[in-house]
Amino acid sequence: MNADCIFCKIVNDQMPSARVYDDAQAIAFLDIAPVAKGHVLVIPRSHYDPITATPDEILAHLISVVKRVAAAQVDALGANGINVSQANGRCAGQVVPHIHFHVIPRFDGGADHEKWTSKRYTDTHEMESFAKNIRAALK
Ligand code: AMP
Ligand code: ZN
Repeated sequence: MNADCIFCKIVNDQMPSARVYDDAQAIAFLDIAPVAKGHVLVIPRSHYDPITATPDEILAHLISVVKRVAAAQVDALGANGINVSQANGRCAGQVVPHIHFHVIPRFDGGADHEKWTSKRYTDTHEMESFAKNIRAALK
């Protein structure tokens, strides 16, 4: 636990999140500023950063959760494609220094797949309904 880290606070329920998955090593929750609605972040419970300082067994586990989340986005949201992204360092666009994988559902006809443009959920009800659908598909 890093006291200054917002993702450690989310792990420890000191900050709210729309959680879609958790296990002994990892959790997954909706990105608050999604590139597409249903955009999920997969993070380890323990604070590691960057990828080069993260143990191989943690990375292997995280990528297996990423795979399951992607399958749930296809099943629950009807995603036609998925982007997986992971940034290290400010110059790479990283804002939160606790390793995380972005899992972004993509849809046929979407024109902006090359851009990283954040969107907003209409309200917390809409956000929770996306989380609920993905959560159900992960069971
Ligand atoms: P990165 O730029 O790769 O570090 O991504 C950090 C991501 O965390 C951004 O896409 C933010 O929208 C997201 N984020 C920041 N704070 C929160 C939060 N409290 N709950 C959910 N997502 C968050
Ligand atoms: Zn942390």
